[in-house]
Amino acid sequence: MESFTSPTVTQRDQILVEQQVFNIFKTFYNMPPSSQSFMLELQRENHVEYLTNGLKQLGPSFCVLDANRPWICYWILHSIALMDEFVDPELEDNTIDFLGRCQDPNGGYGGGPGQMPHLATTYAAVNSLVTLGGDKALSSINRQKLYSFMRKMKDASGGFRMHDGGEIDVRACYTAISVASLLNILDDELVQNVGNYILSCQTYEGGISGEPGSEAHGGYTFCGLATMILINEVDRLDLSRLIDWVVFQQGVEGGFQGRTNKLVDGCYSFWQGGIFALLKRLNSTKGERSIPLGGGEDSDPESPQTTASSDATDEGLNEDLSQGGSHSEKADQHDTSSRVNVDKIDHNSSKGHAKVEPLFNSLALQQYILLCSQDLNGGLRDKPGKSRDHYHTCYCLSGLSVCQRSWLGDEDSPPLPRAVLGPYSNLLEPIHPLYNVVLDRYQEAEEFFTRS
Ligand SMILES: [Zn+2]
Repeated sequence: MESFTSPTVTQRDQILVEQQVFNIFKTFYNMPPSSQSFMLELQRENHVEYLTNGLKQLGPSFCVLDANRPWICYWILHSIALMDEFVDPELEDNTIDFLGRCQDPNGGYGGGPGQMPHLATTYAAVNSLVTLGGDKALSSINRQKLYSFMRKMKDASGGFRMHDGGEIDVRACYTAISVASLLNILDDELVQNVGNYILSCQTYEGGISGEPGSEAHGGYTFCGLATMILINEVDRLDLSRLIDWVVFQQGVEGGFQGRTNKLVDGCYSFWQGGIFALLKRLNSTKGERSIPLGGGEDSDPESPQTTASSDATDEGLNEDLSQGGSHSEKADQHDTSSRVNVDKIDHNSSKGHAKVEPLFNSLALQQYILLCSQDLNGGLRDKPGKSRDHYHTCYCLSGLSVCQRSWLGDEDSPPLPRAVLGPYSNLLEPIHPLYNVVLDRYQEAEEFFTRS
């Protein structure tokens, strides 16, 4: 029994993090209200300054990210857009030119000029250009060549390879499908069997792993779920178990961990928090849809799985994407008592405004982001004691935006003040949770790529 008395490394780390976080909370709650409201304030000016400087020039230590330069663009541009700020026209022009130089002559984007095209950096480049918006940025994307690059990355298993000869995983599937959907080039060929691949990655815990047989993980679960929604096959997943898994990833600190028994980390504010935004969207877009909240009755022989995917390709995916996709009304009318009719829940929320609480503790997550992840001098971080970086700034802010709208039934009206922790000026722009781009930038791109 001795081994049970000495804590493991992870247990020790967990105790240390809890102590640090609880000290911050204790200090906060002992402060006078005026200081409290300062502590909870999103330091917009400092964040924008930190981000804009990063877009202009980075120190020599960033050479390790040389193969991720479009990612740095995306993290920075998206963070700035979330705060409803813009970069100056010259910097915008330079960024478009730079990303143009990352575009491979045969399609797709590499990590830097002349580098091999890669699905992840392609996603980052396309999301950056969509975030910048405008004809110059959007028309710089060679969609035809990009489509043939994606076809080349498609594997016989249904999954996608990250790059020529690269690994097949859920991220590759998501980045390919997200980009294809955003650019309106998603078709049967790209969609074929992707759902089988994602399905093979849902684990016994309910979350989704990167590859079949690995451990459920927040980033992959977001990517897998978003992919299944985009290809209109989300009903094939065991959503009940997925929800069960994700709700238990929120820790005592208020933030999320990425995997069971791991430490809290600010970036999972989006990877896990975004899952709730996807689920909410799934529920609110179609009244008749229901998510199974009861015990595992997933093998309904009349489930709409196969018809859903063929419907998707017949009717054009664009419409389904913007609506979260649901062709399952008829089948769902066979619901038994183990399933909750989400329509009834949502009905309340659209009338009574925010009567339905989110499935996670949104205020606790906002508290973690603002008090523990925020560097008051600009930028956000993983956890106290770590340094700020552009990646965590992007995903902490994306998570914050998701939290602020987690109560809403009606996407068009602004959230109630009590849904926004701290001053109401903390309110960020809404995102489209399937792509993680700011909603109005998504709408501009959607219109542009429907026309052209
Ligand atoms: Zn992180």
